[in-house]
Amino acid sequence: MLASFSAIWLEFVSVMMSFIMSFGTLFGIYVPPTTSSPDDYYGENIKNVIYLIGDGMGFYHLEKAKDERNIELVMDDFSIRGNSMTRSFSAAVTDSAAGGTALATGVRTTNGCIGVYPMDITATFSYPKNITELCMERGMLTGVITSDQTSGATPASFSAHSSDRGNKEDITDDQLRSSIDLIWGTENDLVSKSDARAHGYTYVTTYDEMMALEEGSRSFAHFTNDLWTLEQSDANTPTLEQMTKKAIDLLDDTDEGFFLMVEGAHIDKHSHSNDDAKMTEAVEAFDKAIEYALEYAKADGETLVVITADHETGAIVKNDDGTYSFTSGSHSAANVPVLIYGSNDIIQNGETLNNYEIPIRIAYALGFTEDEFPYEVAA
Ligand SMILES: [Zn+2]
Repeated sequence: MLASFSAIWLEFVSVMMSFIMSFGTLFGIYVPPTTSSPDDYYGENIKNVIYLIGDGMGFYHLEKAKDERNIELVMDDFSIRGNSMTRSFSAAVTDSAAGGTALATGVRTTNGCIGVYPMDITATFSYPKNITELCMERGMLTGVITSDQTSGATPASFSAHSSDRGNKEDITDDQLRSSIDLIWGTENDLVSKSDARAHGYTYVTTYDEMMALEEGSRSFAHFTNDLWTLEQSDANTPTLEQMTKKAIDLLDDTDEGFFLMVEGAHIDKHSHSNDDAKMTEAVEAFDKAIEYALEYAKADGETLVVITADHETGAIVKNDDGTYSFTSGSHSAANVPVLIYGSNDIIQNGETLNNYEIPIRIAYALGFTEDEFPYEVAA
């Protein structure tokens, strides 16, 4: 009794704190540009989707990176710009599991859960389809790539269903059985070469092996060094930009099109530690992956590019002198960017939407129907 009262009290305090923090951040919110060019979208003709998720990336992460690294970001070139609310089913401040699940399945779930309904987290009766699975039903090629471990919460949300983001065995097992064409990230010791082969995957651990992959092959990549840095951390390890380029080369192979999710996981990780230099480097490295995706989309003319985040991390504020500072080592409830190239059906300029609406709108932009990917009203 006492324990449950204090648990409720803690939840109340944490919700109140997050509201206070989100207001603090919202008052200083960056106002996105509102110019929209008709050249930036092509309505009905979307065949491919590149969905890039900057874990923990708020608007001020971009401003801080530009300010402190003296760079420009390709993310600023996206003229269709809105923002999304990130709260989960269980809390005003989401974690990456519930955040990723919303962005992958269109369902708002409980913190810690991957690809399951909040009222049935063990998936006893059913679980929601993720957009990767939806695209596979049409015969599209699919890829899930990340600077994090392949079993991390964001890639897991696009490739697995589990009541617990910490159950990496369960998640990896789902991934091996998923038929997703590319699953690439860092190692987690849970996949051996023979496991991968038994499930039809080529197991890859180096840059050269990745570059040698040919169209039509399925691959599970576990690189052993950091994938988030701007330059290659060693000759065996690609950058996120190199992974993105190779993934697109491999997936751009069929008339049915492709779906690729790319996660820049370390914007979040280096925001938790309030490490300015590493966080801003992670933003720039993520932006390089986006630069290639955008270049590809412009040349291709049938590719939708969606940039967003699962939540903000670090409650970054703008100071009176124009600089930007972390004010927390945790996630916040601040809204995050939604930047689009290729369709004005995902957001209108300046629009605020719920994070779980994003994959639904992507699915409808691809021509899927409500029967195939239902809009389920979330609590
Ligand atoms: Zn985090």
